[in-house]
Amino acid sequence: MTIAIRKLEKIYRVGVERIHALRGIDLTIERNQFVAIMGASGSGKSTLMNILGCLDRPSKGSYELNGRQTHTMGAGALAQVRNEEIGFVFQSFELLSRQTALQNVMLPLLYSGKHAFNARKMAVRALERVKLADRMKHRPSQLSGGQRQRVAIARALVSEPSLLLADEPTGNLDSQTAADIIGLFKALHNDGQTIVVVTHEEDVAGHAGRIIRLRDGRVLTDYPTNDDPVHREYLNAVAGMARRAAEITAAGNALAGAGAPA
Ligand code: ADP
Ligand code: MG
Repeated sequence: MTIAIRKLEKIYRVGVERIHALRGIDLTIERNQFVAIMGASGSGKSTLMNILGCLDRPSKGSYELNGRQTHTMGAGALAQVRNEEIGFVFQSFELLSRQTALQNVMLPLLYSGKHAFNARKMAVRALERVKLADRMKHRPSQLSGGQRQRVAIARALVSEPSLLLADEPTGNLDSQTAADIIGLFKALHNDGQTIVVVTHEEDVAGHAGRIIRLRDGRVLTDYPTNDDPVHREYLNAVAGMARRAAEITAAGNALAGAGAPA
């Protein structure tokens, strides 16, 4: 699959006000890329994700997904592309609270007309993929934040989408749980999944192969992760902190050693 975005603009109209959220984005994303999108709040990340996910349409420019021109489609055709091609994961999970994990994951399949018997089998498989086979009968309130996000990821994957989109998927999770979720994305990427993830965290972005930074509705930089100057600076700072921590530990050990009885 390939994403080809050309001269993409999005203008929101709120009353008489016009908000120019995207101001000319050009982007190509190849099959099986793992891309991180970063940028300050309000820079247009979610707007871009919603268009990528066929939840919204651009005001100007073009978006081609797997050879199909989505920007000219009507709502029905767009919804069909969304069902066939897109899996979406949100920061707030967006699960139905009265439904079990299994029912939540089955839902998109039932909506797209799959027989319940097959939908159930596919949902079980998706839950196994995210290592939640033992929690299928639990409702969201009976699951941890990380487990809820796994259910949401299973729901996103159940239709075997060509494109997995995640808008700040670790924003509501503690750092250990966030690391688990990113580990899951990495495993999916290794299995061939194309992934675009929005994040505020450099360490999360570091797992992607490419970092696109937005500012004021434009692409500010677009580098392979290892070449991204901001990310390299971040890694240097982290390494520096680790070095200092090791020095302090060594100095402490030396003092303790000097003071210890023979
Ligand atoms: P980000 O996800 O990077 O924080 P967004 O894409 O949500 O940024 O927002 C980009 C700009 O568009 C912001 O100025 C925001 O206020 C505005 N915006 C986003 N969604 C809407 C909407 N539905 N209606 C009007 N303005 C919006
Ligand atoms: Mg956002």
